Amino acid sequence: MLKEQLKQIKDRIHNAAIDCGRNPETIRLVAVSKTVAMERVKEAIEAGVTILGENYVQEASEKIQRLSIYPVSWHFIGHLQTNKAKYAVKLFDLIHSVDSLKVAQELDKQAKKNNKIQPILIQVNVAEQVSKSGVSVGNAAKLINNMRPLTNLAVKGLMTMPPYFNAPEKVRPYFKTLRELRDQIKKEGLSYVSLDELSMGMTGDFEVAIQEGATLVRIGTAIFGERN
Ligand SMILES: *Cc1c(COP(=O)(O)O)cnc(C)c1O
Repeated sequence: MLKEQLKQIKDRIHNAAIDCGRNPETIRLVAVSKTVAMERVKEAIEAGVTILGENYVQEASEKIQRLSIYPVSWHFIGHLQTNKAKYAVKLFDLIHSVDSLKVAQELDKQAKKNNKIQPILIQVNVAEQVSKSGVSVGNAAKLINNMRPLTNLAVKGLMTMPPYFNAPEKVRPYFKTLRELRDQIKKEGLSYVSLDELSMGMTGDFEVAIQEGATLVRIGTAIFGERN
């Protein structure tokens, strides 16, 4: 069943890419396994999932240790508190949710200690919802610029979590804004960052996100079923 659902999602990602003239290989699936039990995560890995996305450091830590025999990649997609930075650096291959200089500085410091260059994304709160994390569109370039001295961080791109709508078309403007922001920051010549990645799109709207340039889609419900 999980295997079937995974196959369907992979097919839909593939078709969405082809339909808008993109190479399907430029889009990676992050299977979001927050609150999902160890056995199910294992099942997903055995069915072919290669990237897992987790929201809570503690929960992820157990899974990562117990499933360490599998050659999969773990991404952090939740809100990151400064006091968890040291664990995050040890556990994750990509942190999607950096949204302040303070967190970035701490990650850089911890990455140095671990002799690691930590890949990160900048989370942008495109809709400026008070309830959501993320730097505003207007402050994103400045934040990235201020991170220049943080040589143990590698800024790989942007991430967003738009407001929830039941109609995916309504989300399109937020995805489009994220892509345009990325293009603009690139043009402004912050050349020490690559910004190739756009992490956007979830179960309800990933096809629209792919049309708007997503390179990482974060999908939980459509693979693992409803969360409690
Ligand atoms: C839970 C979560 C997802 C997955 O959402 P689904 O609707 O279950 O696909 C994606 N991104 C983030 C940041 C999440 O917290």
